[in-house]
Amino acid sequence: MKSYPALEIRGADTDRLFAAIDDLSATAIEEREDSVRVFFSTAFARDRAQTILTSDFDAAPLEVSDEDWARRSQADLQPVTVGRLTISPRLSVSPQLAPSVDIEPLAPSPGAQPLAPSPDVIVITPSMGFGTGHHATTRLCLAALQTLDLSHQSVLDVGTGSGVLAIAADRLGAARALGIDHDPDAVQAARENLALNPSARDVSFAVADLRTTPLARAGVVTANLTGALLIETATELVGAVAPGGTLIVSGLLAGERDDVVGALRRDENGGNDVPPTRIVWEFEDDGWVGLAVKKS
Ligand code: SAH
Repeated sequence: MKSYPALEIRGADTDRLFAAIDDLSATAIEEREDSVRVFFSTAFARDRAQTILTSDFDAAPLEVSDEDWARRSQADLQPVTVGRLTISPRLSVSPQLAPSVDIEPLAPSPGAQPLAPSPDVIVITPSMGFGTGHHATTRLCLAALQTLDLSHQSVLDVGTGSGVLAIAADRLGAARALGIDHDPDAVQAARENLALNPSARDVSFAVADLRTTPLARAGVVTANLTGALLIETATELVGAVAPGGTLIVSGLLAGERDDVVGALRRDENGGNDVPPTRIVWEFEDDGWVGLAVKKS
């Protein structure tokens, strides 16, 4: 059975820990009662992270079996509602029991649709693939997507994980959605999740690394990555947005916000005097930031 390399970190201040692991290619974070488990796609990445973290944190390596994690998560995870969407773990309770996450946009963009009272349900199997809706950054992206009119839009979801944002974009009316991830396991999980949502119309997933593969152009691009990766790939991400389109980013911590915005602006400017993009939505949740940037 497949198992996942992880670090069990005890007694850490979570803000400090999240900042420290930001650039260590972690694939998932599980906050437990008395520890934080940080998962990696390879034992090599885990061991490298341990070497780096060990001076500041009590970090012990472990292997977590997928079956244990998924089974426990199925029991533990409750549905999460963001606006008019509910992300429900497979085999879970009815959406009426979902705790509501109250995120309102600071500055709704023109053409934004009001949030309907009855949530639409998306089913996602809990697995190691990030994106069950329980992380603040996923919820921020889901909230940001709902400030846009997605009809007739193509959506590119960079770092799709469980596929939740691509499937959500379809549910919110996008003409088509493509999710890419450099982790083949994530793409496999995203495809399995898509099959659990048979009403999805035109959603596809592909294995691709944002650092090495040219991105397809889309009216809306979502990128829930890390602050460091957003800064590194700002040119590619802004370049993938069609004129008049919107880039939604999250995965950055509040302390990284200005650097990320600076990187997006640097690339927006392209040497011109007038920046051809502007921030149309911004929200912070639990120390994480979500931003929507509109390209002129
Ligand atoms: N979109 C989901 C998952 C975000 S987690 C959500 O919002 O919940 C970030 C994802 O980005 C992970 O699945 C990770 O594998 C992927 N990722 C990280 N670096 C990447 C890269 N260079 N190219 C493509 N995907 C990447």
